[in-house]
Amino acid sequence: MRAMQLRRLGQPLVLSELPDPVPGPGEVRVHVAACGVCRTDLHVVDGELPDPKLPIIPGHEIVGRVDQLGSGVDALRIGMRVGIPWLGYTCGVCPYCVEGRENLCDRPLFTGYTRDGGYATYVVADARFVFPLPAEGDDVATAPLLCAGLIGWRSLRIAGDGKKIGLYGFGAAAHIIAQVARWQGREVAAFTKPGDVTGQAFAKSLGASWAGGSDEAPPEPLDCAIIFAPVGPLVPAALKAVRKGGRVVCAGIHMSDIPSFPYQLLWEERQLMSVANLTRQDGIDFLRLAPQMGIVTKTTRYSLNQANQALSDLRAGRFEGAAVLVP
Ligand SMILES: [Zn+2]
Ligand SMILES: [Zn+2]
Repeated sequence: MRAMQLRRLGQPLVLSELPDPVPGPGEVRVHVAACGVCRTDLHVVDGELPDPKLPIIPGHEIVGRVDQLGSGVDALRIGMRVGIPWLGYTCGVCPYCVEGRENLCDRPLFTGYTRDGGYATYVVADARFVFPLPAEGDDVATAPLLCAGLIGWRSLRIAGDGKKIGLYGFGAAAHIIAQVARWQGREVAAFTKPGDVTGQAFAKSLGASWAGGSDEAPPEPLDCAIIFAPVGPLVPAALKAVRKGGRVVCAGIHMSDIPSFPYQLLWEERQLMSVANLTRQDGIDFLRLAPQMGIVTKTTRYSLNQANQALSDLRAGRFEGAAVLVP
């Protein structure tokens, strides 16, 4: 198979010809049709996450078709259209798994980080962590739902039911979650880099009732806010924007340091929390509702060997919505 492989942290990915992977017991092999490019992939490549497998094939927003079954797999069939997310394995026996919080598992594996992912023509996955998808559908448009959509969904759920929601950083996740929040009947305020009028217009085109710079105050205090950008100073900014009792959720796996801020910003029962990974139930819930929500993803396609370009365009914010590799 062909794959874009990270051999050394901080170095560009290398186009590699590798033996076709073979699924072991309980695993399936998937022929990759599309794989989204997530900001987490940048954190992996940059060495900002501890202990990656090396070499590693990144990519955890995978849409493809099952083309080989390992022994003991009966929930999936050859030819099924499926999605493979970030959560690649959980142990099932640690205290977190036992209490239904497998997103916090003590011994997890993550696709494209500690097990090989979808920047390749084929990927092998644990069948229990593969989501069946409708047989028909646009593979490129679906790929960003597998992380930007899923982690965004979990963040939105954890942000609570507040009607006025702020989204900080209007990239792949926010452009999906803005549509979900609108579908739920909420009002969306979108915060971009100061002066990013194109991004603000994009947010409004997706239903945001207000869009402005992250240094601006929303027209009215927010009930809750989600921070998608990996930028620590957004934490005090978002706390300042929420009302008494409001909640701020940090959705990223990595963030620059949060500057110190006056206790006044947290006072009056404002809450600050992070969202880590996903559970399989999050995936089942979100993917079941996604077709009804009418989500339209904006994607920019790259071929597999353009993965380095896609990553640098993501870093520089050179596209709206999500980048997707098509092997
Ligand atoms: Zn566990
Ligand atoms: Zn991701």
